[in-house]
Amino acid sequence: MNQDRVMAQLANIRTALRCGAKTRAGGPCQCPAIWGRNRCRLHGGRSTGAPKGLGNGNYKDGTFTAEAVEERQWLRSIVRTYGKVDKG
Ligand SMILES: [Zn+2]
Repeated sequence: MNQDRVMAQLANIRTALRCGAKTRAGGPCQCPAIWGRNRCRLHGGRSTGAPKGLGNGNYKDGTFTAEAVEERQWLRSIVRTYGKVDKG
């Protein structure tokens, strides 16, 4: 009975997504990834990522914050749509 449960858990682990972190040997880690994530418990699977904005040590002037990048993409999409010059 308990053994059935263990076997079912093992079957679940076998079907789990695999961690793709690069190991020191060069290949992917291949540990089962955290549920809903792409990395295992040893490779930041539960991490929420680096701090956003000023909290990030690599922050310089905000040129590459998610909002700034998104705004530029939005502007470029508008230019692409309405900025066509008639040639002819
Ligand atoms: Zn891993």
